[in-house]
Formats: sequence, C-alpha cells, structure tokens
Amino acid sequence: MDKIVSLCRRRGFVFPSSEIYGGLGSAYDYGHYGVLTKNNIKARWLEAMVQEREDIVAIDSAIILNPRVWEASGHVTGFTDPLVDCRTCKLRFRADQLAQSSCGRKPSKHPGETPDCDLTEARQFNLMFKTQVGALEDASSVAYLRPETAQGIFINFKNVLQLARRKPPFGIAQIGKSFRNEITPGNFLFRTREFEQMEMEFFVPPQEADEWFTYWIEQRRAWYVRYGLRESHLRVRPHEADELAHYARAASDIEYLYPIGWSELEGIANRGDFDLTQHTESSGTKLEYVGEGGERYTPNVIEPAGGPDRTFLALLVDAYDEEVVADRDRTVLRLHPAIAPIKAAILPLIPRNGDMVGKARGLLDDLRRRFMVEYDDNGQIGRRYRRQDEIGTPFAFTIDDQTLEDDTVTVRDRDSLAQERLPLAGVRAWLEEALDRPWRTPKE
Ligand code: ATP
Repeated sequence: MDKIVSLCRRRGFVFPSSEIYGGLGSAYDYGHYGVLTKNNIKARWLEAMVQEREDIVAIDSAIILNPRVWEASGHVTGFTDPLVDCRTCKLRFRADQLAQSSCGRKPSKHPGETPDCDLTEARQFNLMFKTQVGALEDASSVAYLRPETAQGIFINFKNVLQLARRKPPFGIAQIGKSFRNEITPGNFLFRTREFEQMEMEFFVPPQEADEWFTYWIEQRRAWYVRYGLRESHLRVRPHEADELAHYARAASDIEYLYPIGWSELEGIANRGDFDLTQHTESSGTKLEYVGEGGERYTPNVIEPAGGPDRTFLALLVDAYDEEVVADRDRTVLRLHPAIAPIKAAILPLIPRNGDMVGKARGLLDDLRRRFMVEYDDNGQIGRRYRRQDEIGTPFAFTIDDQTLEDDTVTVRDRDSLAQERLPLAGVRAWLEEALDRPWRTPKE
C-alpha cells in the first residue's frame, strides 16, 4: 500500500487534503491524473448501467434531503457503529473491530489486551453528519449529509415510474458523494469520511428477486474483470445471517484482495420491499407498481452498491508493477486503456528540432480533439517513457528523424514494449482501434 500511496502523491493522482494546515485525518484530494482516472471509472460504470442497457435510467438527487427520509429509512436510529474509548490512550475503536485494531500504547497488541488498557462499555455511535438548514439553529432545522445515495433513488421511484414510463424490472442509477463519520477511517482511500458511491436500485416483481440478485452479483463481478482486475484477486462472499443490514434479506460482497487483505469492493443486497414500504408509510405517498390490468404490488429491490474510490484503489493496486528492463528499473501501471488517465503520449525525440516539434504539435492537435493525450518534450526519451509508464499511458508516439523523411512515427506499447512504425496520417484511426481492442491484464 505504501508504494501506491507514494506513487499517487509523486505523480499527482491523490494528495492528503488540507496539507498546508497539517492535514485532516483520512481526507484526500484528487489531483489531475486522479480526477481523470476516477472520471473514467464512473463513465465505464454509467456505460454498463445505462448506455448498454434499456432498463436503467440515471438520476442525480440532492445530498441534503428532508430529514424525514432518514427517519423512514432507519438511519436516524439504526445507522450506528459500536464505539469504545480507551481511558488510558484516549483512542477510539470500533467495538466489532478490536481484533483488527492496535493498542495506542503497544501497537503489537490489540486494544484491551494489555493490563494498562481501560476500555469503556460499547455505545452506539451514529455515523451521519448532522448539519442545519437555514439561519435558525433549532430542532426543526436539523438535516443530514446523506450517508448513502440509495435513498435519493427511492424517493424518486414514483417520478421515474410515471415520467420515464417504466415498469419492473427496471433500475435507477446514481453516482455521487456520501458522508459517514467513520470511527476508524484509514487505509488510504479505502475508508474515508467523504467518498463517492455508484449505486443502482433495481426494482423487480417480488417473485423474481432471487433470480435478479444472482444476476447482479455476476454482472458486477464481470464488470471488474472487464476493466482489468485479476480474477484471482476477486471473490464473492455471501453475508452470514448475523451480518445482514437491517433492510437486507440477503447480501453478498464482491471482495478484492487489497494489501490489507480481502475487503469489500462492492456490496450487492436484496433489500426486499423494505425501502418502498417504509417511505410509503412515512410519506403517505404510495410507492407501488400498478399494471395496466390493475395488478398492483410493491417491487422488491436489488442493489449493487460500489464506490469509485475503492475501485480506484483496487485498480491501481492491481495494475502496479515493478520490473527491470535493459538493466533499468521501471514502475508501470498496467491499467486498462479505458481506465488509464492519458491514452497516448506524443514525444518529439529532439525537442530543439523545430521540424520535429512542429510535426508533434500537429499530431497533438489532431488527437486531442478526440482523446485525452499528453505532449512531453522534457528530458531524455527514456525518462519520458518511464514517466508515462508510471501513470499507465498505454501508447506513446515518438516523432524522430525518420518522421521528417517519410511521415511515419513509432508507437510504443506500454505492456509489451513492442514498437512499430505507422504513417502519421493514420495515427488517429490506429489509436481509435487500439483503444477499442479487448484488453486483459498481463499479470498472473
Ligand atoms: P464497510 O462494511 O466497508 O463499512 P459498507 O458495507 O458499509 O462498507 P455500503 O454501505 O455497502 O458499505 O456502501 C457501498 C459502497 O460504498 C462500498 O462497497 C464502498 O465501495 C463504498 N464505501 C462505503 N463506505 C465507504 C468509505 N467510508 N470510504 C470509501 N468508500 C466507501
């Protein structure tokens, strides 16, 4: 993990937030390459959910909702983690994660294991961030930053049903920020207090719920494989009955083998009719499906809920490689081309040569109308290749002496390091085709 954190910082993917003020625990800012990569993850998710299907529509709901939403959903009373304090070291721990935590005084021991440890009884701590709406600070102005995007979807069920003229099975997909006052954030981007979620609520006739639950687990697992995660580092773990959330009839996690061990990348839950029933009771608005023949029922909900931040971390961990090529070390991110922040680099071999620069700039102008590409004329060509390898750029086009003679360029492949010559005029079509080719990680 340290290597990933250091690469992210060195190459401007992710910075610790508020650094000039000493930081803020477990808050991060995404830099240029980080933004581009995370945007690619979100775009691929939306493609798979919305563009490539006919049964899912998109939504973008507000972050601050009517607080009654969170009463109805059970979050005000039930969205809690058990917390214990140590009176000796003054640290706080999740009572259900003591075995994974370290004692503040003796890090080799778990909290509660040394004679000096003095833990309080566990108490329930609500993870929602509270705020107030408007200028008056009283009970009626209390509001919450959403701890999940899902509720913004349920409260729009009727709008979508009517206005988008949908009938079950159909889904509503949303990407957006969520906030949880996690007791023990950490492990870089894995657990932060402000993060993004990619959630889709799929509304189905109740008798089809089990079938769609199985379907979505496989669809989501396949999506991670499609974008490069090694199958050997992915597994599906069904929840035990005692870990199920209050709303869930069944749930399975897609887990990735992070450097911290197998951990949740995405959760898929069968939420039954819990949410629509709760909001119907609380709001007085009937959230049900009424068919043309008069049949009516409350749909069941299957929810694949993932996060672009945890996906980002898994993709970087999976892509990271160090190797020695021609006696020189190289660090390379073997990212799927559709995820890589920069699709191609354009490199004039001799930056002082005006003709080469002219050709390179011409190619840049042509390619950047269509792709995220980068021009680099700074330093030895070998160093420029290595800089691109580190940010995962799949292709590099080099303009050299021969380009001036015959208008061809060299293209270098990040993974195989193979080089071939192409006509300058054909580069754009070549890149288009190359980025579309099926890609699998060369890693075992
Ligand atoms: P965990 O058990 O790890 O706390 P969760 O089961 O509470 O996660 P969900 O409520 O299922 O998480 O949220 C769906 C997805 O949102 C997670 O799979 C993860 O990708 C993302 N997510 C949840 N909490 C965080 C967080 N604190 N930081 C980053 N991503 C998160």
